Amino acid sequence: MTISLTPLRGPAEASQGLVLERLNAIVGARHVVTEPSDMTRHLTEWRGLYVGEALAIVRPGSTEEVAALMREAAGSRLSIVPQGGNTGLVGGQIPFGGAREIVLSTERLRRIRDVDPAGNTLVAEAGVTLAEVQAAAEAADRFFPLSLAAEGTCTIGGNLATNAGGTGVIAYGNARDLALGLEVVLADGRIWNGLGRLRKDNTGYDLKNLFIGSEGTLGIITAAVLKLFPRPRSREAAFCAVPSPAAALALLGMAQAEAGSSVTTFELMAREALGFVLKHAPNVRDPLAEASPWYVLLELSSPREEDLGIALESILSAAFEAGEVTDAALAASLDQRQAFWRLRDAMSEVQGLEGGSIKHDVSVPLPALPAFVAEATRAVLRLVPGCRPAIFGHVGDGNLHFNVSQPVGADKADYLRGWEEMNAVVHAVVLAHGGSISAEHGIGRLKRDLMPGAKDPVALDLMHGLKTLLDPASILNPGKVLPARPPALPSNEGTRLP
Ligand code: FAD
Ligand code: ZN
Repeated sequence: MTISLTPLRGPAEASQGLVLERLNAIVGARHVVTEPSDMTRHLTEWRGLYVGEALAIVRPGSTEEVAALMREAAGSRLSIVPQGGNTGLVGGQIPFGGAREIVLSTERLRRIRDVDPAGNTLVAEAGVTLAEVQAAAEAADRFFPLSLAAEGTCTIGGNLATNAGGTGVIAYGNARDLALGLEVVLADGRIWNGLGRLRKDNTGYDLKNLFIGSEGTLGIITAAVLKLFPRPRSREAAFCAVPSPAAALALLGMAQAEAGSSVTTFELMAREALGFVLKHAPNVRDPLAEASPWYVLLELSSPREEDLGIALESILSAAFEAGEVTDAALAASLDQRQAFWRLRDAMSEVQGLEGGSIKHDVSVPLPALPAFVAEATRAVLRLVPGCRPAIFGHVGDGNLHFNVSQPVGADKADYLRGWEEMNAVVHAVVLAHGGSISAEHGIGRLKRDLMPGAKDPVALDLMHGLKTLLDPASILNPGKVLPARPPALPSNEGTRLP
């Protein structure tokens, strides 16, 4: 899907030159990138689903420079597309406005401003990668629990802007639950210093939570106060064969009854998804002798030095007896535990090697999950006979990546042309079960136009109202998250030319 605009010609070119000069004056010419070959990595989405166009990539080095860029954008009628690690999966970080837009890359906002082990907080600037935050916490003998396969590249600003989930949500919550405070540059160039470290603060509306999950449409997050936790000292992992998603949920119930909050990972994988990993990923092998239709990666961890192996064995033997688990491998070493994780972490990446893959990042209430999987599987097979649901995800959170690979030998482009039709079929099942069409990846551009069919109209109207309040000229990431407003009301997609 390539969306491009013809670059402006004639007098506008002169005005573009002036804008670029002013951008150079704010961040330094070195940090205003206009060379097409240097811009490519910022304009192309991870899976190649979108290729955007922009006037420039601009890399501010401080919060003050971000604020100055916002003021410049307002004056020049430019839009700003914030970008962190460019690992987002819904096109939110890609500019579609051609010469009307600049990408504001946070890659120079890379300072960890403070680590406070006594207060269990860490203050990081937006462009620090998630892996760097985890490492800084560990260096202070603490733990930052947000974890996802893109953690080496994605940034804390992007994580908060998308309210990222990942594999630790079952025990620690998503990005929203892990932030105590934010620093945000507003559309009018003001800097909101909300870097509070309080765990209790009921002084009015919770502004922080407005910006978290807003995908760069309400403000630019420049820094955050993050919560730290005691470092896990004991861990045990098992790779379990389970006959069905219902059995997986029964196993989850048993694990939580036995080990409570020590259940820190509970990931479900369909055989098809594991099969793709075994076929394509390097250095992997099936931990179990026989194939099973479904698998669970179950991990217990605790900040205490304790033998969680006893609890894990007790959970698994009860589950064997009840028929909820048919086989399991326990990690006897760190190497084996890492080998289990390699299987899980490679899952998104390898799907691209099996031809077209139509994605659904959905959640349903836990009790509805088995029915959702059965009904959605039937529905996609009816729509495209031979298609291959390669389902995996954070089943403990009711969140599945219901990704569907093309039939073997089908034409990829042909198959992908059915993206929207398949989305409609799967999302209808999701909504019938009271679920969400975006559990953790956000709305961005990809799901924007699905909002009216999926979101309560009053909620959508309030969202438009907040956008108008915080960004009346629609400078921040226009065309993302919010669909065009119904005709009687002002649109958020004005035509703004520099
Ligand atoms: P970007 O992709 O650069 O931006 C994402 C959005 O945030 C855009 O709308 C952008 O405009 C906005 N944004 C970025 N920085 C800022 C800022 N400082 N201020 C305001 N807005 C900003 N996501 C999950 O939730 N769970 C997963 O398990 C998961 N697994 C993934 C696995 C892989 C292999 C990949 C490639 C992605 C995965 N993702 C997952 C999606 C992605 O990694 C997350 O959405 C991540 O939080 C995005 O961070 P980023 O820095 O790359 O942001
Ligand atoms: Zn996920």
